[in-house]
Amino acid sequence: MSPFPSRPPHWVVRMNYRNRAVSWLAVMVVVAWQWWAEPWPWFWWLGLGFQFVLYPQVAYVLARLADDPLAFELRTMTFDSLAIGFWVAWLGAPLWLAYALCVCGAMSLAGFKGRRGLLMSALLQAGGAALAVLLHGFRFQPDLAPGPTALCMLALSGYLLAFAQGANERTRKLHAIRMRLTDSERALQRQLAENQVLQVRLSEQANRDSLTGLFNRRFLDSTLGRELIRCQREGQPLALIVIDIDHFKKVNDNAGHPVGDEVLRRVAFLLSHDSRASDVVCRHGGEEFLLMLPNMPLATALQRAEHYRESLASTTLLIEGQRLRITLSAGVASYPEHGQLPGELLAAADKALYQAKSLGRNRVELAQSDRLPDSEPTVPAELA
Ligand code: GH3
Ligand code: MG
Ligand code: MG
Repeated sequence: MSPFPSRPPHWVVRMNYRNRAVSWLAVMVVVAWQWWAEPWPWFWWLGLGFQFVLYPQVAYVLARLADDPLAFELRTMTFDSLAIGFWVAWLGAPLWLAYALCVCGAMSLAGFKGRRGLLMSALLQAGGAALAVLLHGFRFQPDLAPGPTALCMLALSGYLLAFAQGANERTRKLHAIRMRLTDSERALQRQLAENQVLQVRLSEQANRDSLTGLFNRRFLDSTLGRELIRCQREGQPLALIVIDIDHFKKVNDNAGHPVGDEVLRRVAFLLSHDSRASDVVCRHGGEEFLLMLPNMPLATALQRAEHYRESLASTTLLIEGQRLRITLSAGVASYPEHGQLPGELLAAADKALYQAKSLGRNRVELAQSDRLPDSEPTVPAELA
């Protein structure tokens, strides 16, 4: 069973392992190539072998086992710089090897920590070198044989290319992620726009009568109080016309319910046909309609009601092959003449409609201007 956690290695750990293992092995080869014949004590070779062959493997294993592999790897990179300074000074600063190692160490830290990393690497390398001088004395042997020099150049080039390739991979991945994010953002925007349209449609539906498409009673109840307050504030009148189709039950009984429905639709069309944008034309109940007409004087409202009555009465409706003569009765009330509150106005208009019915139907009646003592306000007190 693998001792490593099941998650894949962090990309920095993976990339550094590959770069470090290969380039430091090349350093070991260079050192062996250059100084194999020297009478060095065995433990020097042991130290070099540990540093340049074993250490990259150990660093990888520990990074993979660490709770925070990236933080561990960054610490390893700072240690790399220290070790580079130490071995460069220990070996007497062989020019090409020193150059390759110092550049690689500085690049790694600068790549992840920017200028601060570059400075850190320089200081650590200097520290490592100072330690080597303390332990081993100052040595300066800049020359390297052509073979090891060529290998140094090769290793440095390989390291730089591998580093560049890693950067390129990350850039591509970041670009792909950014594209995906942009796509998701666009999809989200689309979804939001659709939701908004849906919301508007839903609230429209909640306020509309499905048979006629007119506003429903719920909408009128929520608007009347507000509009009355506005008219009061602006010193404007507001008229209500309550309309009821005469003997509509007979239409249903004689011509059928579907024909009755069509009559309701035709009447709805008549009422909404040339209404103003501020008018609220609603189906108040079965065959009863209500028009709320803000800023409309009573006399004009009466004319409007009379116009509707007259238009319907003088028209023969042809529905499903049947000729129908339909009439309506209407009651008209107005703010401020017939009440201050929605309930008062509605009751006054209803009473006028009742009057029109009892006086024979197919007529328009104006509400009485006396207040209705038993009527209840239908808007909350705070709205009044
Ligand atoms: P009045 O002149 O006194 O108003 O008499 P009316 O027959 O019009 O009044 P009544 O209240 O007796 O009858 C109203 C009828 O309206 C009864 C009901 O079946 C019918 N109605 C209510 N809603 C609808 C509807 O959506 N479609 C159809 N076709 N009929 C409806
Ligand atoms: Mg009726
Ligand atoms: Mg009715």
